[in-house]
Amino acid sequence: MTPMQAYTDTEMANWLESTDPAQLATLYQKAYAVKQQFVGNKVYYRGLIEFSNVCQKNCLYCGIRRGNTNVERYEMNDTEILEAACWAHQQRYGSIVLQGGERETPAFTKRIEDLLNQIHAKTNNELGITLSLGEQSESTYRRWLAAGAKRYLLRIETSNPDLYSSIHPSDHDFDRRVACLKTLHNLGWQTGTGVMIGLPGQTAMDLVKDIHFFKKLDVDMIGMGPYIPHNDTPLGQKVSNFDGARQLQRALTMIALTRMQLRDVNIAAATALQALNPQGRERGIEAGANIIMPNLTETRYRTGYQLYNGKPCMDENAGMCRFCLEGRIASVGESVGYGEQGDAPHFLRRIQHTQGNHSAA
Ligand code: SAM
Ligand code: SF4
Repeated sequence: MTPMQAYTDTEMANWLESTDPAQLATLYQKAYAVKQQFVGNKVYYRGLIEFSNVCQKNCLYCGIRRGNTNVERYEMNDTEILEAACWAHQQRYGSIVLQGGERETPAFTKRIEDLLNQIHAKTNNELGITLSLGEQSESTYRRWLAAGAKRYLLRIETSNPDLYSSIHPSDHDFDRRVACLKTLHNLGWQTGTGVMIGLPGQTAMDLVKDIHFFKKLDVDMIGMGPYIPHNDTPLGQKVSNFDGARQLQRALTMIALTRMQLRDVNIAAATALQALNPQGRERGIEAGANIIMPNLTETRYRTGYQLYNGKPCMDENAGMCRFCLEGRIASVGESVGYGEQGDAPHFLRRIQHTQGNHSAA
């Protein structure tokens, strides 16, 4: 099979079930060739600012869920967030991600809006800003887009509604999450989604359907990673015999298949890959990912943002992260797209197409 031929669903499910390293290496090589052809051989940085672990939701898998009373809650102040954004700009990272627990309040909407304006003012409008702040109303998404953010990452977590229900409390609504993704797409956000790979009860065919879901929604960015149990969560407490090596392998296979199916989207090599193996993110790049999110969160806050057991780089500062990452990226034959925002080619084509249709009308 050439890299350009599509696999059937059964073939994809077989790949996801495969544990044969030699065979999987051939799949990853094909996916890497597709990545080079459609998005090139640069890796783009998104400096990740995990500015607060305060969350109104209670997802059963997440270490910072509302119900976890063992977590000390923190909130970076505006000055600290601006300093982190300016540091990323000075390092020519091109883009940042503002991520945190989900809060849907007028005060929160306004605070993010103000922060976006201030970040743009301080960085000459040169930073691409991604938000990852969960489900919000259409008017909030509009306001944040108008204030200059342009990418939004909202993982669907799993596209199987029954599985979704089994990993969330009953008041968390799958349909609303899908509706939010559609709203973001329609409003003109560069839209990202993704899933957790290797959830309890998830089948290989569920993951194949996740890839179809990404395609159907016509998303521009994929941010997905392995599910990793957290001891203080209801889901984590149910998992016994967690096999990190197998979980990493399954996640890499999912990245490779997604690259081969979606081709020109941005795919992140998630930090969770590194939690399972020190070289996890580089292996993600070799399997078809092209985005890395170096952590810019101040070291003293990082222990407060433990989504899962063994989150890496807990005691490294942003400078050390940059230094160790650059070498790792060069080691797999890629270079960093410094000073570039690295928009997904898929998004650029989609926008051109929409504009073409409008001018033809
Ligand atoms: N609150 C926002 C939201 O949920 O979209 C953004 C922050 S949330 C911590 C970001 C992502 O962390 C979630 O979409 C979820 O996939 C991931 N996550 C949470 N717990 C995890 C776990 N135990 N293993 C792997 N990923 C996890
Ligand atoms: Fe909150 Fe996001 Fe964690 Fe769910 S995954 S509990 S919304 S931070």
